[in-house]
Parts: sequence; structure tokens; C-alpha cells
Amino acid sequence: MVAGDQSDPVDCLILGAGPGGYVAALRAAQLGRSVTVVEPRRVGGVCLNEGCIPSKYLARFAAAKAGAEKLAQAGMPGFSGPPDLAAFQQSREAAVGTLVRGVESLLKAAGVTVVAGEARFVGHTRVCVQTGDEMVRYFDFKDVVIATGSVAAVLAAVPFDGDRVVEPSRALEWPRLPTSLLVIGDDYVGLEIAVAYARLGSKVTIAAPGEGLLPDFDADIAAAALRGARAAGIDVLTGVEPLGVDGGGVSMKGKGDPVRVPAERVVVSAGRVPRLDALELPAAGQRRPTGALVVDSQLRLDRHVFAIGDATAGLHLAHRAMMQGRVVGEVLGGKATGLDSTAVPRAVFAEPEIACVGVTEAEAAAANTEVTIGRFPLVALGRAVIESGTAGFAKLIFAAGGGPLLGAHLAGPRSTELVAEMTLAVEMGATAEDLALTIHAHPTFAEAVMEAAEVSLGRPIHVRRPR
Ligand code: FAD
Repeated sequence: MVAGDQSDPVDCLILGAGPGGYVAALRAAQLGRSVTVVEPRRVGGVCLNEGCIPSKYLARFAAAKAGAEKLAQAGMPGFSGPPDLAAFQQSREAAVGTLVRGVESLLKAAGVTVVAGEARFVGHTRVCVQTGDEMVRYFDFKDVVIATGSVAAVLAAVPFDGDRVVEPSRALEWPRLPTSLLVIGDDYVGLEIAVAYARLGSKVTIAAPGEGLLPDFDADIAAAALRGARAAGIDVLTGVEPLGVDGGGVSMKGKGDPVRVPAERVVVSAGRVPRLDALELPAAGQRRPTGALVVDSQLRLDRHVFAIGDATAGLHLAHRAMMQGRVVGEVLGGKATGLDSTAVPRAVFAEPEIACVGVTEAEAAAANTEVTIGRFPLVALGRAVIESGTAGFAKLIFAAGGGPLLGAHLAGPRSTELVAEMTLAVEMGATAEDLALTIHAHPTFAEAVMEAAEVSLGRPIHVRRPR
């Protein structure tokens, strides 16, 4: 059935129920707007269904094995036998299902209408939603939010085949451990997958196009990630580019002769591109950008057209999408608010754990900002010694002359939790004195940031004072 020209008038229409879209829907509904969300798949988007949650479920599973192996050296009996990935997948799906149902019930309780289908614009204030093979519905909106997310980028030399050569999300669904795995790419998503499978027992190779891993992170962090990957048993090839894939491996071009890396499975982690193709933006009077949508601080493209999350230019992170969702929900609810993206933390669940917020040392130098840096090695921290997690550090970058914290770069256990304190410190303009004079519980990893602040002030306690 085709519903012809009949259309339903709606107040706020949100396209996509990922972390950006569902948060926007909830906040706009809280503020009294009547909200309809269009979503062709399960609510929760990439984050809940095939990104953040499944990848951290895998990371935790693999880290438990690595942790048990460390404890075995201290007298605790270790795991025996290979990991059962089929059982793991069942428990992972149960966890994801719990979270998806949680979002569904929040949307229901908030009175948000969810329409199952894929949306495309057919006018400046009208979308068409494909709700079934031959079923469409039309909606006339007052305001619309584009929250359609992103898809994995494809490398022409190694196209996805859905089985052997896959995007990162598919690698989280394998019911059996690959004997050998090649990860092509240097970003955090590929690194997390590589570390997890190496810890579980696969022979893992990373093929990085540049000189190392995590090229957009602080150089000390990138170096720690490279050391950590190698310590986890991963063979990291740098400066290589894939030429093509055959039945049993991938050939690569590097500085010397081409090399062939044999691999049972291949993950291509080459970043993500905004999912805008199906939307037919010109019908809404919007230019289809070559890259991502560029919005203002109120997430606006046009008076009644907003965009958030991975569809917009910036870091592809769920917490950024969620914050944009909160802000756009408030704008839709009539509040005079805007987004400040100064302090967007980043967390990497690899070996070691990594987390950062604010500027890198290179960015500060490029901006001619005078800084004072405090760096504290975890080898001098009690908690790190207890947990055999001494391969890491806290590096804090302050504006010179007693100024505020501009950037924090953490490597080591629990960094992904500690970065919350650092994000708050950047947000609130905390200085080295503020951090150094805040009593941190002992023995904890959090003490590392207090110690790093003291180092920056030239009065370290647990490392020697530089002469
Ligand atoms: P999405 O989550 O992509 O949701 C968009 C939704 O829109 C989807 O549900 C889609 O079905 C729907 N949609 C698409 N087209 C249409 C249409 N035409 N009409 C209606 N609906 C449509 N981020 C982190 O912060 N931390 C992590 O640890 C992390 N790990 C990741 C691991 C992996 C393997 C991957 C792939 C990503 C990871 N990310 C992580 C990134 C994170 O998942 C994304 O940044 C986040 O999901 C973006 O949210 P979003 O709402 O913009 O889009």
C-alpha cells in the first residue's frame, strides 16, 4: 500500500534513534515538545547494537583473561582452555538487549512515538518513511533533527565481503576465535579489536598506514599505544598500504618490496563516513556536503533543520552525540543554550587503557601557547604496582604561569574512568594547584593526576625532582 499524498503532521521529527537521536527525543519531550522518531533498526544505533557496548563487552572479556594470567603469577589459579566465543556472544547479545529495552522503555515513558522505517526528505517540511517493502508514510514536521549516524569507510583495495574481510562491527560478532587476524588501520576502534583478539589467543597483525598508531593523539600516548600493542604480542607493521586481498591473506606495499600478510580474518578500520546518502537532502533545500554536515553551536543547519552526532563534522563518539542530543533537545524546547566542545574526552580500551581530553602538546605548540607539563610515571604509584599495571603515565598540560589545565593524557589501568576528573578540571579551569591540593584516596590510580600536577609545579613527592 502506498499512502499517496496523505501525511501526518508532527511537531519534532527525529531521524535516527542512536545515542544522538534518542537523547534529543527524550530531552525535547521533557521540555514539552511532541516527538516522533524514525528508526529502521533497533533503537540505540551503532553505539548500543554494534559499537561501543559490544566492543567494550569484548574488551572486558579479553581483559579478564589477561588479568587472570597476571594473577596466576601471584598464586591465583589461571583460566584453563580456550575462550568459548559462542557462549560469549550469547551473553553479549543479552547485555545489548537489556540496554536496548531500557531505551525503548524510556522513549515510551516519555510519550515519544517511534516509527519503524527509513526516512528521506521529499520537501522542505516533509519526509517520506519507507515502513515496509511497499509501504510508505509521509510526515509534515515543524522541526527536524538529522541523527542518522555514520557507516564504516571502505578501502578500495580491501572491500568488505561480509565474511573474511569485514568492518569492525562485524568482528565483534564472531562465534569462533580466528587463528590469525589482520587489522588494517591505525585508529582506536581497530586497536581495541586487535588487543582483544590478541589477548584471547589469536595471532594478530596491525597494518598501519603511518608511522604508528593513534596518529591524532598526543605523541606520548601514541608511543604508549604502540609499545602496549607490541607487549600484547601484536605484530605492528607501519607505513604500509593494502594492495589487494587473496584467499589467504593481504598483500601490502611499504617502503621496501611488497609483503603478504597471511590472515584467516581481516578487519578494515579506516574510519567512518556520515550516513547521508538515503536522506535526499536537496529535497529539504539542503546541500549534500562531500563530507559531514556542518552545524552551528545550536546544532542548526537551517531555521528548522538540525543535525547531530556522527552525521556532523567532529569526533565520532557516542558521548559527543549524546551531548549534542541534549543541547538540540533544549534548543527545541525553547532554551537559549549552545554546545561548548572544548572538553570532549576520548577513551581507548586497549593495552594500556588510554584516555585524553583537551589539547595535545603538539597542538599547544602549534598555537604558540606557553605551557607547563607535568608527567608522572605509573611505575612510581602504589596502586599500579599492586595491579601489575605500571606501563603508563599521567601527562598534564597547563597554561604556563599557574594557568588552567588545557589537556590531560593518561595511559594505564582505569584511565578511562580517571579522565572524568580531568574533563571536569578542564571544564572548570582548574589549575595545577587545584589538582595538587585535592586529596586523592590512597592507593588509587587517581593519585597519578595529583602527582603529575605536583611535578608540573616543580615539587614532586614520589619521583625525584629534576636537577
Ligand atoms: P548512530 O549510532 O550511527 O545511530 C544512527 C541511527 O540512525 C541508526 O540507528 C540508524 O539505523 C538510523 N538511521 C540511519 N539512516 C536513517 C534514515 N534514513 N532514517 C531514519 N533512521 C536512520 N564511541 C564512543 O564514544 N565510545 C566507544 O567506545 C565507541 N566504540 C565504538 C566501537 C565501534 C566498533 C564502532 C563502530 C563505533 C564506536 N563508537 C564509540 C562510535 C559510536 O558508536 C558513534 O559515535 C555513535 O553511535 C554515534 O551516534 P549517532 O546517534 O550519531 O549515530
